[in-house]
Amino acid sequence: MMLYRHIVVGKGGVGKSALMTQFVQRRFFGDGYWPMEEDTYRKQVEIDDEIYLLDIVETECQQEIQGLDLKGEGFLIVYSITNRESFEQVTREIEKIQKMKEKEDFPMVIVGNKTDLEKDRKISQNEAMDLAKTYNCPFFETSAKNNHNVQEAFYQLVRELNLYNSKN
Ligand code: GDP
Ligand code: MG
Repeated sequence: MMLYRHIVVGKGGVGKSALMTQFVQRRFFGDGYWPMEEDTYRKQVEIDDEIYLLDIVETECQQEIQGLDLKGEGFLIVYSITNRESFEQVTREIEKIQKMKEKEDFPMVIVGNKTDLEKDRKISQNEAMDLAKTYNCPFFETSAKNNHNVQEAFYQLVRELNLYNSKN
């Protein structure tokens, strides 16, 4: 079984915890009710006939994974389609990771969350797709609330990790 770590980054409030909770537990908590704010999860999934154990963390906590061999880590870089500042932070997050890894290229997926709030949209799909293209990186719009495209984004990051591992 392959162990991968998904690191979820982005400005506070964009829905990082909500995406993780939706993906792992298929639950969504609205304003004011978050019974337990976990910031790390583990989930076993089957993707393209392979079984993976995903270690999912909200920020980079370099905890040891005992007895398991981590085969790579990838980044889910999240902004909210209703918040321009959070979109601008995407570039800064990517540059920070590039610096930390001393590498231009690393497995990542860009995620524009909160598509259920279409009326408050500030970032068009095209603008985000242009950004994703400059990094040659997959892009998804999601709603943690409506469970739209959540699994797709997490699964795509597994595929990006596989691709990266096959080239490096
Ligand atoms: P984090 O700081 O990035 O972890 O953000 P949270 O997951 O704590 O979410 C911040 C707020 O946005 C909470 O009130 C969530 O209920 C709300 N939220 C998260 N995702 C969505 C979404 O897809 N749609 C809507 N309408 N609200 C969301
Ligand atoms: Mg959070």
